[in-house]
Amino acid sequence: MKFELTILGCGSAVPTLQRNAAAQVLHVQERHFLVDCGEGTQQQLRRFKIPYNKINHIFISHLHGDHFFGLIGLLSSLSLQNRRAGLHVYADKRLQEIIEFQLRTMGCRLVYPVHFHHLGREVQLLYEDKVLTVHAFPLKHRPEAPACGFLFAERPRERHILREMTDAYAVPVAFMHRLKRGEDFVTPEGEVIANERLTKAPPLPRSYAYMTDTLFCPAHAEYVKGVHLLYHEATYGDEFARLARETFHSTAGEAARVAQLAGAGRLLLGHFSSRYPDPAPLLEQASLLFPNTSLCEDGAVFTLP
Ligand SMILES: [Zn+2]
Repeated sequence: MKFELTILGCGSAVPTLQRNAAAQVLHVQERHFLVDCGEGTQQQLRRFKIPYNKINHIFISHLHGDHFFGLIGLLSSLSLQNRRAGLHVYADKRLQEIIEFQLRTMGCRLVYPVHFHHLGREVQLLYEDKVLTVHAFPLKHRPEAPACGFLFAERPRERHILREMTDAYAVPVAFMHRLKRGEDFVTPEGEVIANERLTKAPPLPRSYAYMTDTLFCPAHAEYVKGVHLLYHEATYGDEFARLARETFHSTAGEAARVAQLAGAGRLLLGHFSSRYPDPAPLLEQASLLFPNTSLCEDGAVFTLP
């Protein structure tokens, strides 16, 4: 039951030799979600061996180049490879105009359907199936490029039947679905058999949140309360707090503060400014406030058990 995040790019505005522009893939139980698609994402998908034909949903946080310049290239390549399955893109509504304009200008028709879903400025359910839900929530970035965060949360699973116990108490097959939901069983003689004797608790649902690009805002923590894994931008170190404010970005300490307020399990820092060839100082700053912090690097894989 995989829950695995692969970082394809954790740089910011300008890609460097060490860090690609923003992109990552979340793999949840056979589903592959692409989150942001900066320039060069196609090559990173290949480099890190992501089966990118299995990507059916792409989430774009906002319309700055380091988060979507790779999309037209990826869409075109998928068409050249004769993809047939529909592809869903969740983004600012202007991205649809941009992509359609690019395709029209090139006289290019994709051989598979692309379904655009427009992001608003409220909490929004974007995707759901029997395994998980994906919500968008508003961040605070530059006015010309409103940004959204994304929360991927597994649904609670049903309890596991202990077959030898249900056999011992002759629980009828028709009652099994109620057992899975936690009901006690009452025998024909009227004896109550506690559910915990007949079933085992399922693994806890896991969750992941993606928060970039954004000004520090303590209220954002409300959107990701209790999240297990949190990626938060840390474009700058705390020494550039003013610059971070002016450019609608966060510092490492501010990312840690959000993780702390949210009661997150683990914090991942990324979207580093190119002024940090080595982002180690950012880890030091964030860890003071939130010890369970890690730095992202391209190709890093983070899993939840
Ligand atoms: Zn950015």
